[in-house]
Amino acid sequence: MNQRWPEWLSLNENIRELKPYGAPQIAAKVRLNTNENPYPLDESLQRKIISDISDRVGNLNRYPDRDAVELRTTLATYINGISKTDISYKQIWAANGSNEILQSIALAFAGDAMGFEPSYSMHPLIAKSVGKKWISISRGPEFVFQIDVAIEAIKVNKPGIVFLTTPNNPTGDSISVTDIAEVAKVALSVGAILVVDEAYAEFSKQNSAVTIIQDHPNLIVSRTMSKAFAFAGARLGYMISNPILVDAMLLVRLPYHLSEITQAAAIAALQNQSALQKQVEQIKHSRDLLVQELLKMGLHVISSDANFVMFSGFKISSQELWQKLVDGDVLIRDVGIPGYLRVTIGTEAENKAFLAALQQALNS
Ligand SMILES: *Cc1c(COP(=O)(O)O)cnc(C)c1O
Repeated sequence: MNQRWPEWLSLNENIRELKPYGAPQIAAKVRLNTNENPYPLDESLQRKIISDISDRVGNLNRYPDRDAVELRTTLATYINGISKTDISYKQIWAANGSNEILQSIALAFAGDAMGFEPSYSMHPLIAKSVGKKWISISRGPEFVFQIDVAIEAIKVNKPGIVFLTTPNNPTGDSISVTDIAEVAKVALSVGAILVVDEAYAEFSKQNSAVTIIQDHPNLIVSRTMSKAFAFAGARLGYMISNPILVDAMLLVRLPYHLSEITQAAAIAALQNQSALQKQVEQIKHSRDLLVQELLKMGLHVISSDANFVMFSGFKISSQELWQKLVDGDVLIRDVGIPGYLRVTIGTEAENKAFLAALQQALNS
């Protein structure tokens, strides 16, 4: 069902058939549908953010640092700390969420865009919204990424931009750095940029693709503070790449796109992220417990390296089960794959509430 636009409205052809990104924002008591970190920021960090912002409020008559150098330097320190890399701020670009990063990439680079689906629904939406053709390549059985299929598809289609999501959303499984390196090489041979969307990297057992940035001039790793950092409301995403690709971002960014307030808040969060690691470990532990419970119910679960799991094996349709859970005040995600639903890992109490509602829905 596409929206009917009035005759007189000269909407761009390439967006006429699109549907807006639409995770339902329903006021359920237990919300496990958009992969946020369920824990609020540490209280001492909340106070630090407030005081750093208040220090800068007197300057709000001025534009912020257009190039966000202090923030990018702080992001480089964070990445170098966790991935043992030697990345400089010149290899980092930051924006209002990684979705803005992805959009800037789509605006800057030529050619068709390719992805391996099911994957993040914003990749095709962003590509099409800037007038690109979207080439969808299917993942294999159990939605596993198939390196041979990918290499062949890149050689045949010669896209301008290739998207890989790891850990993948909505399935949760990840791609090895060895496979990423192979894809980057083939992409370079056809002149394509490889975008590795690592929104869930902090939850993963795999090494980050930032560890191979220096070997692949066409590789962009996209990251976000929305998930592991419990910072979805602040809107901060970033990319790590060869500095020449960051220079290309400067051509398409809007001037002063990152507010003084956003920059201050993100720097404070990055410099005080000691509480974070414990939370990430807690979420991973809760994920493993939740998976065991789902298996005990006789359900099938795709192995997950992220803060969500996708499951199947229930007898009713995904829509029906989703609705029953909403009726039980639990909101999870129908990602549009028949027979599957995706649930974000919440607090222990939220996970329990989800499991109880699920058990009841399956019995009714
Ligand atoms: C959540 C998510 C994002 C994050 O978007 P932000 O704009 O940074 O909040 C990016 N990519 C994937 C695959 C995601 O699941």
